[in-house]
Formats: sequence, structure tokens, C-alpha cells
Amino acid sequence: ILLGRRLAGFIRDVPDYPRPGVQFKDITPLLADPDAFSSLVELLASMCVRRGATRIAGLEARGFLLAAPVAVRAGLGFVPVRKAGKLPGPVLARGYELEYGTATIEIQQGAFGPGDRVVVVDDVLATGGTAEAAVELIRGTGAQVAGVAVLLELGFLLGRDRLKRSLDGDRVDAA
Ligand code: 5GP
Repeated sequence: ILLGRRLAGFIRDVPDYPRPGVQFKDITPLLADPDAFSSLVELLASMCVRRGATRIAGLEARGFLLAAPVAVRAGLGFVPVRKAGKLPGPVLARGYELEYGTATIEIQQGAFGPGDRVVVVDDVLATGGTAEAAVELIRGTGAQVAGVAVLLELGFLLGRDRLKRSLDGDRVDAA
């Protein structure tokens, strides 16, 4: 299995995407390599198990690519956290600030409840705004958020610090 440091070699820096001045971390080379991808799934799944997860929440869209195989590997159910208007039936919604404008994410009512320990899985933790909104949404159901597990953390954006406000303690794991 390839450990975190080796996995970094499969992430491509794309300058000036999606906007000038932003260096985007492209994870598609990692997904395209079967050893790297399965090692990543293994690592994230062990993080989720260590946090005592009973359910895995994946954040649309790249978070789905990781959270679904991680849930299967950990033997846990997968729950999608989606952008507004994509989930059928009654939903719980939460808005959050983006660099420019706002966004809304949703979960289906009844997806989580008291007694659940949820780990939120995504590809990249940047400012932490997206993960924070997901954590608040999940906590609103009475479920506990056991952690946030990501492939990559952009440390200079201080997402981990932001999450400390809504997560109880430091429960962020990065592969
Ligand atoms: P945040 O809300 O933490 O600022 O941004 C995190 C969200 O934006 C994640 O869902 C992640 O998919 C996406 N994101 C932000 N920056 C990057 C990046 O450089 N690479 C990738 N792959 N996703 C990013």
C-alpha cells in the first residue's frame, strides 16, 4: 500500500484553474492509478474506522468518488451530501459562503439520526467552508460527527482551524 507521501506524487498542480492565481490540485491521476486509488481508499477507510464511524457522508462531487468505495471498504453505509435541488423527497438544507457568492448543500431527511457517528469524506479541505456546512447540517439531525477525512489538506487556508469551531476537538484526518 502506498502511504500519504507517495500518494502526493499522483496529484497534479494546475496553475490558474479555475481562476487566475489559484493553484488547483487535480486528483484524477490518482484515481486513474489502481494501486494509488486502492491505497487511498484503504487509508481513508482505516481513518473512518478509527474514528468509530457508523456512516460515511460524501460531499458532491469529488467527495463521492472517494466516500463510496471507502464506505464499502469500511462496511458502512454511504450518504450523499448534495448541492441544492438534486435529492428527491424532503431535505434539510444549509447555505454557506463561497469566495464569490453562496452555495447550498442538502441531505435527505432521515439520512442520519441520533446514535449515528458520521465521518465526512471529501477530496480536498481548503478553507473548510464546505466541510463546516456539512458538519453543521449533520449535527442538526442529532447525529454526532466523528470526523472529517480528506485526501489532501491545503494547510495555508486554515480549514482545520475553522472546523475546530463546529467539530468537538481536532478530528480532521488527511491522507
Ligand atoms: P473549501 O470549502 O474547503 O474552501 O473547499 C473545499 C471544496 O472545494 C471541496 O469540496 C473540494 O472538492 C473543492 N476544492 C477546493 N480547492 C480544490 C483543489 O485545489 N482541488 C480539488 N480537487 N478540489 C478543490
